[in-house]
Amino acid sequence: MDELLEDVSQRVREYLSGVSNRSVAPSTGALEGLSNFDFRYPETGRSAREVIHMLDRHGSPATVASAGPRYFGFVVGGALPVTVAANHLVTAWDQLSGLYVASPVVGKIESVAEKWLADALSFQEGTAAGFVTGATMANFSGLVTARSVLLKRQGWDAEEDGLFGAPELTVVVGDEYHASMKKALSLVGFGRSRVVRAPVDTQGRIIASSFPETDENTIVCLQAGNVNTGAFDPLEELVDRARSSGSWVHVDAAFGLWARVSDRYKHLTDGIENADSVATDAHKWLNVPYDSGIIFVRDRQAFNHAMSSSAAYLIEGERRDGYKYAPEMSRRPRGIEVWAALLSLGRSGLAELVERNCAQAARFAAGLQSHGFKVLNDVVLNQVLVSFGESDRTKRVIEAVQNDGTMWVGGTEWQGQTAMRISVSSWLTSDEDIDMCIDAIARIVREEI
Ligand SMILES: *Cc1c(COP(=O)(O)O)cnc(C)c1O
Repeated sequence: MDELLEDVSQRVREYLSGVSNRSVAPSTGALEGLSNFDFRYPETGRSAREVIHMLDRHGSPATVASAGPRYFGFVVGGALPVTVAANHLVTAWDQLSGLYVASPVVGKIESVAEKWLADALSFQEGTAAGFVTGATMANFSGLVTARSVLLKRQGWDAEEDGLFGAPELTVVVGDEYHASMKKALSLVGFGRSRVVRAPVDTQGRIIASSFPETDENTIVCLQAGNVNTGAFDPLEELVDRARSSGSWVHVDAAFGLWARVSDRYKHLTDGIENADSVATDAHKWLNVPYDSGIIFVRDRQAFNHAMSSSAAYLIEGERRDGYKYAPEMSRRPRGIEVWAALLSLGRSGLAELVERNCAQAARFAAGLQSHGFKVLNDVVLNQVLVSFGESDRTKRVIEAVQNDGTMWVGGTEWQGQTAMRISVSSWLTSDEDIDMCIDAIARIVREEI
């Protein structure tokens, strides 16, 4: 074990020290190297060292360097050193995180993380937090709780009796809702198409004046941070209106929630503190390793009830039993990396991380505009959409930028226009990286397109 850990820690060091300067996309040669994994399952096992050697030799080069400073695809974020280290330690612990008796330390630290999150995000004291795989499962968990509460009010027990024959619920979403909400809606049994879509404006924000009337049988799904533009629904107005009609309000705030830790950007999220459930990711802007999402629910009892289960051998205690806070029974202790990130950054470091990435997004936008390229969105947060003219031309630029390897960005269609989609969400990105990328894009357009 000792030798193996030394060997792997050397490999981790080498990987991370090279990740800033290699091509962000894996090279053709590296991708070809993946064929080294094509052999039949062997009769006899290999040594642990050999397995790790193979994984590193042929696996590491074929990674996308999203742990480095110039990956701006999707919304990814890096992993703060302390979270990578905490991940190593808790993996060695190998704890069953669903039950306090099976792991007092996980129960304790996850309840501390829950309190600190509520504090850092200015949520009501006592707000429950569940540690799940990502925003998709957080959205799912919010919807499951909403379903439980709204049906219970009508005398229907969703946990015992399921959904066949249950009173109908209406789900309202904004027209630019995220694909993950669609997935969550299908998993929870509401259906992807059986939703009321509220009209949105050019930034993807729900238009409050045309928002439908809602009632106590409605689940209203709002968004804090559109995945393309970064825009926020008018939360304050819509949350209040929907809640006073008795609706459940769920907010998908996968990355936008983190605006709340900054005095400068917090106003974008005003009103979210009154929502019934809020989903977010920790593996995006909090910069913890994959996978890590968080579901916040104000009504702890309702949340625990919706996630409940029972078996004679489940010894319940007063303390936090993780399985009441997530769809999973057994899982890894994701809350510990969240705790480590919060503690290492502190309140000011967390705000600084968010503000720095937002300033870098603005720097990106201004730099690209100065070269004559068109920014399609109001850069309110960390997302930038850029057009290079005709759709085909924009697509060619994106592909050439990916092949060049200085950075990685993806593409999108935004309300009928093709755009390069830039998301700045890594702790490792410096202003120099942004300038290097602006220069690279300008050079590629000049020389190749
Ligand atoms: C990324 C994202 C999701 C999905 O998150 P996963 O972590 O992939 O499950 C949901 N909503 C929004 C707005 C996102 O940006």
